[in-house]
Amino acid sequence: MSGNAVRLEAISEIINQQPVGTTVPFTEVSTSDIFGENVFSLSVMQKRLPKDTYKLLKATIEAGAKLDASTANAVAAEMKSWALERGATHYAHVFYPLTGLTAEKHDSFYTPDGKGGTLAEFEGDTLVQGEPDGSSFPSGGIRQTFEARGYTIWDVTSPAYIMENPNGTTLCIPTAFVSWTGEALDKKTPVLRSMQALNVQAQRVLKFFGTDGAFVSSTAGAEQEYFLIDKNFFYARPDLLNAGRTLFGAAPPKGQEFDDHYFGAIPERVLACMFEAERECFKLGIPVKTRHNEVAPGQYEIAPVFEFSNLATDHQQLIMVNLQKVAEKYGMVCLLHEKPFQGVNGSGKHLNFSMGSANAGNLFDPGATPAENAQFLVFCAAMIRAVFHWAPLLRAVVASASNDHRLGANEAPPAILSIFLGDELTEVFESIAKGKELGSRKRVMHVGADVLPEIPRDSGDRNRTSPMAFTGNRFEFRAVGSNQSIAGPLVAMNTIMAESLDFCATKIEAADTSTPKKLGAAVEALVKEVYLECENVIFNGDGYCDEWHAEAAKRGLPNLKTTADALPVLKTKEVQDLFEKYDVLSARETESRYEVYSEQYTMTINVESNIMLKMARTTIFPAAVRYQGELAISLANLKDVGIDADTDTLTYVTKLIATMQGAIKALKAAKDGEPEGTEAACDYCRDTTIPAMEALREVADKIESVVADDLWPLPTYQEMLFIR
Ligand code: ADP
Ligand code: MG
Repeated sequence: MSGNAVRLEAISEIINQQPVGTTVPFTEVSTSDIFGENVFSLSVMQKRLPKDTYKLLKATIEAGAKLDASTANAVAAEMKSWALERGATHYAHVFYPLTGLTAEKHDSFYTPDGKGGTLAEFEGDTLVQGEPDGSSFPSGGIRQTFEARGYTIWDVTSPAYIMENPNGTTLCIPTAFVSWTGEALDKKTPVLRSMQALNVQAQRVLKFFGTDGAFVSSTAGAEQEYFLIDKNFFYARPDLLNAGRTLFGAAPPKGQEFDDHYFGAIPERVLACMFEAERECFKLGIPVKTRHNEVAPGQYEIAPVFEFSNLATDHQQLIMVNLQKVAEKYGMVCLLHEKPFQGVNGSGKHLNFSMGSANAGNLFDPGATPAENAQFLVFCAAMIRAVFHWAPLLRAVVASASNDHRLGANEAPPAILSIFLGDELTEVFESIAKGKELGSRKRVMHVGADVLPEIPRDSGDRNRTSPMAFTGNRFEFRAVGSNQSIAGPLVAMNTIMAESLDFCATKIEAADTSTPKKLGAAVEALVKEVYLECENVIFNGDGYCDEWHAEAAKRGLPNLKTTADALPVLKTKEVQDLFEKYDVLSARETESRYEVYSEQYTMTINVESNIMLKMARTTIFPAAVRYQGELAISLANLKDVGIDADTDTLTYVTKLIATMQGAIKALKAAKDGEPEGTEAACDYCRDTTIPAMEALREVADKIESVVADDLWPLPTYQEMLFIR
C-alpha cells in the first residue's frame, strides 16, 4: 500500500458520496410551524399552567422574585407532562462549566413503583435543584475533593427545552452550577449576577430621564464563524482530531488571496447542512437569521437575532452543539477552533452588545430628541470610560491558547483594546468636550438642547479592525474567539458598564438637575469629563497596521499579546475588587477563574506538543526517510550506469531530516523543562514550548513541500480546504 492511500481513499469517498436528504425539507414545513416547538416557553406555560402559578413564575422571570415550593411543584408537574407528551424519557440539568463546554446529567423520569411497574416522577425540588457529580469539572481551588458536591439550580429565565435524538428525547433544564457553599463553578451564575448589577446602576441614571422602572438588560447577538471540512480528512489527521487544529501543514498553492469565497455561492452540501442546522435551532426557539460564506475557503458564519444576554449565551452554546451534530450527518466536521489552518483566516465570534428596557428602549441608540440624545450620550460615555479603564480585563476574558493565534494576526483585532466610534460620533464628542464646531452645522453641540446629527449604521464591513466598534446602535466586541463561550465577555461588559454607570450616576446625582436645562448642563459636564479623561482609547483608524502598535504604545494603551500576559489581570486587586463590589464574583471566585483558564492554557499547549512529537516521529519523519532512501537508491543506480546526477535534492532532504531530528529533540527537552507553578508554567509555554513547536512545524512543512506526493500520508491543506 502506498504512503498516500489514506488520502486517496478519502478523496474517492468524497467524490462518490451520496447526497444526504434532510428529515423534512423547509418546502414542506414552515419555519413558523417549527419555531420553538421544542421549548417550554412562556406561551406554552401560559396555556398549560394555572393562572396564579403562571403569574408567579412570570414575576420571577421578569423581576427576579423568589419562587416558592408550591409554584415550583406546579411548574414541574406541567413540565413533566409536556415533556412526556413529546416522548421524553429522561430529564437533564444542563450547566456550563468553566471549560466553556456544555455539560448535562441525564436522569430517567421513571422509578419503580414497588409493584413491579414503573412510574414517571418529577417533583418541584427535582426541577429546582440537582446534584451532578461535579468532581470532574475544574473549580480552580474552590472545591476540595472532600467537598466535591456541586449543585445545579434551575435558571427560570432560560426556558427548558427538548433535545431530540433518533432513539428518544430528553427534557433539558438550563441551570446554574454552584458549590455547596454557593460559590459559582460555572459561566452562567456570574452572567445572571452581572445582569442584576447592570440593572441597578442603569436605573440610577435613567431616573434623571424619567425612563427608569423597567428592568434594564444587556442584549447580545453573536456572529459565529466556523469551518466545515469533510470528515474523511478530519479522521486522517491526528492533529485535527485531537487538537481541533492542524499542527502541521504546508501552505496550499492557492489560499484565500482571490477573496473568491467571501459571500460567494454556498456549496450545495454545505447549504443543505446549514438548512438543517437552522431547523434544529428553530425548534429550540433560537432565532438564527444570517448565513454566509466567510473569508477563508471552507469558512462560514451563522448569526441569530439578538436576545437578552443570559438567553443569548445559552442559545449560543446550543448553536455550537447543533452545528457540530448536524455537520456530522452530512459527512462533515464543524471546526470551531479559532485557527484550524495556519495562513488562512481564523474564526471569531463577533459579540454584538447593547442594553435596554421596555421604558428606555435601546440605550445605545441615539434616538431622535435632545432628551433621548442626552441619555444615549451618558451610556456611550460610560462605555468609552469602561473600555478605557478596564481594557486589560476585556483582553483577559478573550484569552485562550487558540485565540492567541488570531488576535493581532492581521485577521482579527490586535490585543490592544481600543474603541471605534466612527467620525460622526467622534465629532459630537469633540464638540461637547472641546467646544469644536460640528462640521455639519457650524456650531458647538449642546447636550439637552441640540439634536445629534445622523449617526450612520455600520454597513457591516466598515472598520473591521477595531476590537470594540460602535455600529450605530450597539457595540461589537470583535476579539471574542469562535470557540469561546460568550459568557465571560458578557460578564466583563455588564460589570464594567455597571461600574461606569455607577460613576456617572454619582456625578449627576451630585449636580443641580432641578430643571431640564440644568440636567443638560450636568450631562454635558459629565460627558466632557469622561471624554477628556478617556479619549486615548478611541481609535477610528486601521487597527491592523504597524503604526497603530507604535501609536498605541505612545498613548499608553496596554498591549497584552498572549494569554500568558493577559490572564494574570484576573489576579489583580482592581479586578477582584471590581467583581466583588458589584456582587458578580468574590475575590476567590475570580482567582479560581485565573487558575482554571491558566490550566487550560498550559494543558492545551502540552497536548498539542504531545501530538506534534508523535506525528513528527511516526508520520512525517518516516515519510521523509523513505523519500530520502528513494533518492539515494536512484542516485546510486544512476552512478552504476555512469551518470553523475545532481545530488541537490538528496542533500536538501538530508539536511531537513537532520534539522527535524534536532527540532524534535528540542521540543522534547522544552517539554521536560516545564516549571511548577501556574504563572511560571504559562510564561514558560509562551517563551519556550511554543517557539519549539513553531520550529518543528517550520521544518516539517518544508519537508511536506519536497517529499514525493505518493509518500505523503496526511491530507494536505489544498485537499481539506478545497475538496468537498
Ligand atoms: P452586521 O452584518 O452589520 O454586523 P447584522 O444585522 O448581521 O449586522 O447584525 C449582527 C448581529 O448584531 C446580529 O446578531 C444582531 O441581532 C445583533 N444586534 C443587532 N442589534 C443589537 C442590539 N441592540 N443588541 C445586541 N445585538 C444586536
Ligand atoms: Mg457584524
